[in-house]
Amino acid sequence: MAVLIVLTGVGIAAGFGVAQRDRWWLVALLAFAAVVCVALGVVIWLGAGANADATKQLQSTGTRMSLPVVAGTETTEDSIRYLLELQITPPGQQTVLVEHACGHGTCVAAARTAPDSQVPAIVDVQGRAWGVVHD
Ligand SMILES: [Zn+2]
Repeated sequence: MAVLIVLTGVGIAAGFGVAQRDRWWLVALLAFAAVVCVALGVVIWLGAGANADATKQLQSTGTRMSLPVVAGTETTEDSIRYLLELQITPPGQQTVLVEHACGHGTCVAAARTAPDSQVPAIVDVQGRAWGVVHD
């Protein structure tokens, strides 16, 4: 979460600098990017809910582990983004496939080398929540 907060802070700070040069649309773009960064924090199992409280909760209840990247598909955006299919195998339970859409360097590299790659993550099996860690 620290990384996400820092990213958001940078986005907002950069936004203020740009605003002084009358380029409001860039500010809007950066603000949107900041929101996207926060939204990446936590994804509830099979769902898409995300917020800062959930991220904090996950950090206290979850376990850090590496998730195998089953597949990575490049998606069409201005920046390079991939849709990563990740595999979570809770002890004694069935494997669950989850998706993580991302343009972070770690995730892009993992997507390109899938299925021989893994990404760092925090998983809370009981709370059925997970999040990819962007160090
Ligand atoms: Zn990512």
